[in-house]
Amino acid sequence: MKEYIRDVPDFPIPGIVFKDITPLLQHPAAFKQAVEQLADRVRDRRPQIVVGIESRGFIFAAPVAYLLGAGFVPVRKLGKLPAETVTVEYALEYGVNTVEMHVDAIAPGQRVLVMDDLLATGGTAAGTIELVEQLGGQVVGAAFLVELTALKGRKRIPGHEVISLIQY
Ligand code: AMP
Repeated sequence: MKEYIRDVPDFPIPGIVFKDITPLLQHPAAFKQAVEQLADRVRDRRPQIVVGIESRGFIFAAPVAYLLGAGFVPVRKLGKLPAETVTVEYALEYGVNTVEMHVDAIAPGQRVLVMDDLLATGGTAAGTIELVEQLGGQVVGAAFLVELTALKGRKRIPGHEVISLIQY
């Protein structure tokens, strides 16, 4: 799958090497393999809900939830969700961000898997886990297509199983 992930230097700001997954998404066999391998790697966590992080997290979280017979819940950027929300602000590899989730998206005690396309510093995943836990959800793991290991994102979410298919 690494063949289909493209490095774009200095995007979105100078000094960041952006891992562009759009070539993988447009290649039918690579996309299928990514979704199926992610589902296979998280199946034993028995999630009832897969939380996808806007926006590239949605691309993987929704088909994985479908394959596992779980529900899908979106975590979105501030102001996009129509009903009552819980909100968290966190630092990114580049800049800050605020995300939110509907207050009734997760029932207390539900087994929740958090999913995004890429784990960098772990700020986004840590913020999302905080939202899930605020609602009483039980986080059973965090899964990513790509992990940038040098940024030590795993350390930002101690105590949680981290699953990634591709490491740089
Ligand atoms: P972080 O909170 O630092 O773990 O950043 C993860 C989020 O930012 C994910 O939603 C990624 O899509 C995006 N991201 C951060 N760094 C990169 C990168 N070098 N290439 C592509 N996406 C990135």
